[in-house]
This record gives sequence, structure tokens and C-alpha cells, in this order.
Amino acid sequence: MKKHRRGFSQKCSTLHSDVKKGKMTSGSPRERGVCILCGGEKEGVPAQKDAAISFFRSFRKLLGMEEKHTIACNACLPLCLPKRAVFEKSLSRHRLYAMGFVFFLLAGSAAFGSFPLWLLLPAAIGAAIILLLPFGRYFPAFKTSDGK
Ligand SMILES: [Zn+2]
Repeated sequence: MKKHRRGFSQKCSTLHSDVKKGKMTSGSPRERGVCILCGGEKEGVPAQKDAAISFFRSFRKLLGMEEKHTIACNACLPLCLPKRAVFEKSLSRHRLYAMGFVFFLLAGSAAFGSFPLWLLLPAAIGAAIILLLPFGRYFPAFKTSDGK
């Protein structure tokens, strides 16, 4: 990344990428960024923007770090897809765990003949913690040409 980029050339480069995007709508989109696996600055398939990605971006901005696109280069893309699948699987598993946790907490208290409303607070906090656990191994999705 050039530090002293003039406004004019920036305009040119956005225009250029717009043209590129329009041309390549049939294939997978390409972007320059940092590869998530090998860490190299290359051209590759960009990560799909989701809540976690925007969170990490605003976090980096808060720390004053340079904003960079997360991509998967051609060599690493086949390795990235199974990693994403593992993350999605653990996400859906933890959704079940959270539901089970809330269910047992509320059903357990109901079995003792009382259902205090304040119990909803630890139930919500516990469920949130369980749902956040898989994000310790977060892995973004990548737009692939098969439209997935
Ligand atoms: Zn790579």
C-alpha cells in the first residue's frame, strides 16, 4: 500500500475495480488483501462480510491499525473451505448446547416448584457465553464460484 496516494489516482483505482467487478460477475470476485492462512499480500477471493468481520474491522479501527481486506489466495482457498465448515458445524452445535442449557435451567427450577423471573438473566448470560465460544475459532466464509 502506497502511503502518499493522491485523490485522483484513488478515484481511478475505485473506478478500475468497479469495471473489474462488473466484468467478473459470473466468476468469483477477486480482491487484493492479506491471505488469512499464509499471511501474504496477494490477490484472492475476499471473505464474506458478516457480523464478526465487521466487529473485527471496527476493533482494528479503534486500535488505529491499518484496515486490510481478508482474502484467501488461490493456494490456500481449498484449505479454507473445510475450516469454515468446521466452524459452522461447531456454531450449530453450540446453538443446541445453548438451547439445552436454558431448557434444563428453567425446567430444573420449575421442577422445584418455583420459576423466578430473575433466573432469565443467568439463563441469557449462559446462553450468550455458549454461543460465543465457537468464535474463539472463528473462520470467515469465502465467496466461491459455485454460488455458495
Ligand atoms: Zn495464502
